[in-house]
Amino acid sequence: MKAMVLREISPVEKEPLRMADLPKPVPGPKQILVRVSSCGVCHTELDEIEGRVQTRLPVVLGHEIVGRVENSGPGTATFKAGDRVGIAWINSACGKCHFCREGSENLCPEFKGTGCHADGGYAQYAAISEDFAYWVPERFSDSEATPLLCAGAIGYRDLRLSGIGKGQALGLFGFGASAHIVIQVARYWGCEIFVFTRSEAHRHLAKKLGALWTGSPEDPPPKKMNSAIDFTPVGETVVHALKALEKGGRLVIAVIRKRNPIPPLDYASLLWDEREIKSVANITRKDVQEFLPLAAEIPILPEIQEFQLGEANRALILLKQGKIQGAAALRMPD
Ligand SMILES: [Zn+2]
Ligand SMILES: [Zn+2]
Repeated sequence: MKAMVLREISPVEKEPLRMADLPKPVPGPKQILVRVSSCGVCHTELDEIEGRVQTRLPVVLGHEIVGRVENSGPGTATFKAGDRVGIAWINSACGKCHFCREGSENLCPEFKGTGCHADGGYAQYAAISEDFAYWVPERFSDSEATPLLCAGAIGYRDLRLSGIGKGQALGLFGFGASAHIVIQVARYWGCEIFVFTRSEAHRHLAKKLGALWTGSPEDPPPKKMNSAIDFTPVGETVVHALKALEKGGRLVIAVIRKRNPIPPLDYASLLWDEREIKSVANITRKDVQEFLPLAAEIPILPEIQEFQLGEANRALILLKQGKIQGAAALRMPD
C-alpha cells in the first residue's frame, strides 16, 4: 500500500514525510482492516513531526480516518466488510486502571495514540481494534467526517470542560479546524461567541459561522468572557485569554503542546477572583460516540480543504502557517 512515512524528527518545512510502499497491515484478533478513503490533517501531527510530542519512528501519521472495512481478524462482531467507519486519536487504553474504570481512559498510563504509537491514516489501509472504531453518520461525506473525529470530538470535550452555559459569553482564541466546529456547537447551545485571531480569513469565516465579535488576541472584547478556549500554539495567548475572562471564569487550553513558554502570570490581575485554567488531554471513546450523532443533529457543516496523499507535507506547512480555512483532509489514491 502507499503511505506517507515519517522517519525522523524535522522542521515540517523540510518536507520530512516520504511516500513509501508498505505491506498492508494484517488485522489481529478483534481488529478490522480499514481501506482509508480520507484522513484529516491535525495540528498534533506538526507536534509529532517537530518533536514536541514523542512518536514511534518510523510512523504513519494521521488520526482522523474515514474508510470502509475491508476484512476482519478473528473474534470481531460489530463491523463487517463494506461498513463505513471512523478512527480517532484513541487507539487503545488498558481498560483496567482506575482512570479507565472511571471513564477517564484518556488519562490511562498505557494510552496509545493512532498515528503516534500505532500506524495511522496517511496510508491506503489502517488496522484498529473494532472497539475503537465508530459508525459515521450518513449525512457527512468521507472527507467532511474526518475533522469530526479529532478537531470536532476534542472540541466537544473542550466545550464541556469549559463549563459554558446557555446564553453565556465564550471566547475562542485561534480559529482553525477545531474552533470552526466548536463555534457551531456553542451556537446550537445558545452561547454568545467572541473570536480572537490575527488571521483576516479566519475572522471572516468566524463571522460567517455566527461570531458576535472578532478581533486580535490582545484586543479587549466588548464584554468579559464566562469561559474561553485557547486553541493557539503560542504561550502569550494564555495571558490575553485570562485578561478577557470574567471573575470565576475558566480558561481551557486545548493544545497538546505550546511552541513557546507561557509567560509569568500575575496572580492578582489574571488568576485571583477564582479564575481557573484547565488543560485537555487526549480523548475518550465516549467523547467521539456522543459527538458524532450531535454533529449530525445540529448539523455541523465542516469546511474542508482537500489534498492528495502525496501533498501531505504541503498541507502541513499551510496548517503551520495558519493558511488552512476550516480543516485539511488527504484523499487516498485508488
Ligand atoms: Zn488531532
Ligand atoms: Zn487504563
